[in-house]
Amino acid sequence: MIRQHTKPAKQATVTETEAADTVCRKCGGTGEVDGHVCPQCKGTGRIAELVNPA
Ligand SMILES: [Zn+2]
Repeated sequence: MIRQHTKPAKQATVTETEAADTVCRKCGGTGEVDGHVCPQCKGTGRIAELVNPA
């Protein structure tokens, strides 16, 4: 049995914080509000700092 000195708890905390920052708070990440496309995130469910004209 090999035990690695990893810190999953710490990494998980960082990931959760990052995710909470990008998830649209208006629709809660669903991309829809009242059956319509969320105007806050354009239906992506996430808030991006930079606009990607894809
Ligand atoms: Zn939204």
